[in-house]
Amino acid sequence: MSRTISQSMKSHIKKGNSMFRSFLIKYGEIGIKGKNRHVFEDALIRQISLALHPVEGEFEITSERGRVYVEAKGDYDYDEAVLALTRVFGIVGICPMWQVELHDMDQLIADVLSYVDAVYPDKDKSFKVFTKRADKSFPLDSQEINAELGGRILDAYPAMHVDVHHPEIELHVEIRARVNIYSEEIAGPGGMPVGTAGKAMLLLSGGIDSPVAGYMISKRGVSLEATYFHAPPYTSERAKQKVVDLAGIVARYSGSIRLHIVNFTEIQLYIYDQCPHDELTIIMRRYMMRIAEHFAKESGCLGLVTGESIGQVASQTMKSLMATNEVCTLPVYRPLIAFDKNDIIAVSEKIDTYETSILPFEDCCTIFVAKHPVTKPNVNIIRRSERKLSEKIDAMVEEAIRTTETVEVC
Ligand code: ATP
Ligand code: MG
Repeated sequence: MSRTISQSMKSHIKKGNSMFRSFLIKYGEIGIKGKNRHVFEDALIRQISLALHPVEGEFEITSERGRVYVEAKGDYDYDEAVLALTRVFGIVGICPMWQVELHDMDQLIADVLSYVDAVYPDKDKSFKVFTKRADKSFPLDSQEINAELGGRILDAYPAMHVDVHHPEIELHVEIRARVNIYSEEIAGPGGMPVGTAGKAMLLLSGGIDSPVAGYMISKRGVSLEATYFHAPPYTSERAKQKVVDLAGIVARYSGSIRLHIVNFTEIQLYIYDQCPHDELTIIMRRYMMRIAEHFAKESGCLGLVTGESIGQVASQTMKSLMATNEVCTLPVYRPLIAFDKNDIIAVSEKIDTYETSILPFEDCCTIFVAKHPVTKPNVNIIRRSERKLSEKIDAMVEEAIRTTETVEVC
C-alpha cells in the first residue's frame, strides 16, 4: 500500500471539503496486549485529541477492539488534521476512510463503487480487494466478498483491472459494526503515545542535538520538562527566545514542556576565575547536570536527557562523559550517543527544528570555552579543581535555582 497520499487523491482534497470524514488510526501492537492495551489506547486517544485541538473543525475519537477512529463532525481542514496526526507518537498509519452503515451485500456494493468513483476519478488503475469480516453473521465470507466486489468494480469501471501481486490500489473493506472502506495509508511516526512512560528532564541548548534528543525520548512515550542555562548579558534575549522556540517545536510532538531557564552567569564566571581553563567545560557541565537534576527530582522526572554523542567534541569523549555523569544520581539518557552529526541533522530537518537551531546566537558554553579543553579528564583532578569553588558555589547554586524563570511552552 502506498505510504503517502497519492497525487490523484491530493488533488481532490480541499480545505474543509474533504471526501473523507473519518480516519482509521493504526497503531503498533507489540507489547500492548491485555490490560496494557487500555492504557495505550487511552493515552493515544488523549494525545490525538490534544493534537487535533488547534485544527479547524470538530472531531470525535473512538476506539473499537484494536482500532481507533477519528471522525470529523462537519467541515474541517483535512491537511491540518493529517499533519497533526502524523505528529502523534504511537500511530503507525493514518488511513483516510469512508465509514458506512452495515446493511446487506447490495448496499455494500453500492458504497464500494461510490468510494472508488469518488477517490479515483482516473480509472486506469490496477486494484485488489482485501476484505476482513469481523462480523461473522454477514452471509458471505471474505473470499466471496472479494470476488463479488472485484467483479462489480470491473463491470462498473471497465478501465480498471485486477493485479493480485502489485496492485496500484489496495482496497480494504472491513466489515465490523459498521463498514470501513479505505485504500491509502499515510505513515505515522511510530513509537509510543506520550504519557505511557514517565517524565524526563531534557537539557535543552540552542543547538541541533538536544531538541532531537528530546524528540527521540518523547517518541518512546516519555513526557518532557526542559532546563536551559543562559549567561546574560553574555548571551542575548534572542538566544533565549531561540530555545523557547525550539521547545515549542519539540512540544508539537511531546505535548507541552515546562522550561526552566537558569541564569548561569555567576557560576560560570566563578568557575572561570577559580578553575583551570582546560577543565571549564567539564566543570560547567557537572554544575548543569546538578541543577537540572534538582528540578528533575522536584517534579518527579525519572531521568535526565542530553544531546551528547560519543566523540562529537572534547566534552563528549567517553572519559568526559564519565566525568559529567559522575555527579548525577538519576539515569542520564543520551538517545544520540551513537549518531553521526549528519544523521542528527537529518532528524532535525524532519522534525523542523533545524532552521531554528542554526540561527547564529551565542550559547553560554561557547562563550567561556577554553582553546584546548581536556579530552581525557581525570575525575579525581576534576573533583580537586571543584574544591576551589567550595567557598561560594553552594550559595550560587541556590541563588541560580531561586531565580530560575519557568515558562510553560506548548
Ligand atoms: P546541541 O547538542 O543541542 O546541538 P551543542 O552541540 O552546542 O548543542 P554541546 O556542547 O554538544 O551542545 O552540549 C552537549 C549537551 O549538553 C547538549 O546536547 C545539551 O543536552 C547540553 N547542553 C549544552 N549546553 C546547554 C545549555 N546552555 N543549556 C542546557 N543544556 C545544555
Ligand atoms: Mg552537541
